[in-house]
Amino acid sequence: MKNNKRTLNQRKNTTQFQLTIRFIGLLTSAVLILSIAIMGITAAELYESTEKQAHLLEDSLKNSGAKEAKDWQKVLVKDTFSDDSLYLIHVQLNSGEVVYSSEDAKEIFQEFPQLKQFILFDRILWTSEVEPYYYTSFQKDETKVTILVDMENQFELIGRIFSLTIFITLAVIALGSLVTYRFSKKLSGSLVVMDEEINQLKVSDSKQQLTVPKTPQEVQNISKSFNQLLVKQRMYLKREQQFVTDASHELRTPIAAIRGHVNLIKRRGKSHPQVIPTSLDYIDKESKRLEILVEKLLLLGRLDTQFNMEQLDLSLIIQQTVDELNVMMPQDITITIETGIFVEGQAEHFYQIARNLLENAMKYTDTSGTITVRLFSDEDTIQLLIEDSGMGIPDEEKTKIFERFYRVDQSHSSEISGTGIGLSIVKELVEKYQGKINVTDASPKGTRFTVEFINTHKNEDFFI
Ligand code: ADP
Repeated sequence: MKNNKRTLNQRKNTTQFQLTIRFIGLLTSAVLILSIAIMGITAAELYESTEKQAHLLEDSLKNSGAKEAKDWQKVLVKDTFSDDSLYLIHVQLNSGEVVYSSEDAKEIFQEFPQLKQFILFDRILWTSEVEPYYYTSFQKDETKVTILVDMENQFELIGRIFSLTIFITLAVIALGSLVTYRFSKKLSGSLVVMDEEINQLKVSDSKQQLTVPKTPQEVQNISKSFNQLLVKQRMYLKREQQFVTDASHELRTPIAAIRGHVNLIKRRGKSHPQVIPTSLDYIDKESKRLEILVEKLLLLGRLDTQFNMEQLDLSLIIQQTVDELNVMMPQDITITIETGIFVEGQAEHFYQIARNLLENAMKYTDTSGTITVRLFSDEDTIQLLIEDSGMGIPDEEKTKIFERFYRVDQSHSSEISGTGIGLSIVKELVEKYQGKINVTDASPKGTRFTVEFINTHKNEDFFI
């Protein structure tokens, strides 16, 4: 049904149509060229053999020794010149006498002045009844001998070859078009099916996929790639939906707490003024949490947008981030930063990576603990190491902590404030720069985060 609706123009643009037309064109030209060549060669061969026959006859007549009419009559009486003969001879003697090889010859030669010449071969003449004859003549001792060789059989043969050629051409076109049409239909049929399936596809239905045809290979590959893309797209969509749900949930909790305390102050503030400072503390804490959360959500949103790449002094960025946090860091900190490490990117991104990891080290480590920051590079890599002697992360949680809104052990998360998105931001940022992030246990206790980037500026000093 859908096919019928397609316009003529659309049909003309289909592979099926284009292939069929081109194939028929090619086939017809090939068959025609071949046929014309065969006909041409046969015609030339036949003409040549007739010419040879005529010359042989000419030679034998020249050598016959006939001079007078009766001599010629004797020569021309032979079987070769009977009425059914292919050869028609006309002898014009000097005396004005004329001798014919047969009655047929007499008839034709009377018509001789009206005979027409064939365009391509001027030695071929036509009678009014469209009978072809090869013509040759010679003069001997004042006697003019004209020979006509009947070429009807030869022309009949060429005619038969011509009809056969036409028949073969038509048959080849008919058969060829049918085969090509069916073949191209098979080829483009899978594409048409694919198009229809894509139109009916619902991204929300996770089970729907494109049918993968066995042939042609190209369409099979496209269907497979499309299905893979579909899986990725659905995963991405699911993740985004989950993110919206989680984000609204995370935003709702502090808002509900703030509204609860505002209501408490409104209802009891006057009669029990002692609740006000505690409630204000809660409101302050929750609004701060809200502020951080919104900031991080905005940052997450910005990650997908385009950014400028510039040459950055990573050593300087890490040093500044450490200095910024060091003032409020109760733990002892050991800093080893190799100078002159450069990367390509946006400063904000590397700042966020270092800051989130350092903040976590501070949050999840006792005030009496220690924190170590190291930045170094080798031939191929740049490594940022942030280690603490804090509470550590159980092995089974190590992969989950990079998920958005995931926090280890909900009980301690209520004590230590956090949003659960810091590490997911870090991971996304690191992967944006084709880097890797790893979490391991520190010794004797604590956590070690290792961020690794490809060193694109290796050996730079060497060349300067
Ligand atoms: P949060 O805002 O909760 O710190 P993150 O995404 O930064 O969110 O971290 C996710 C979870 O990983 C944290 O809630 C915490 O349980 C755990 N975590 C992260 N860094 C450390 C660390 N240095 N030591 C122990 N646990 C950590």
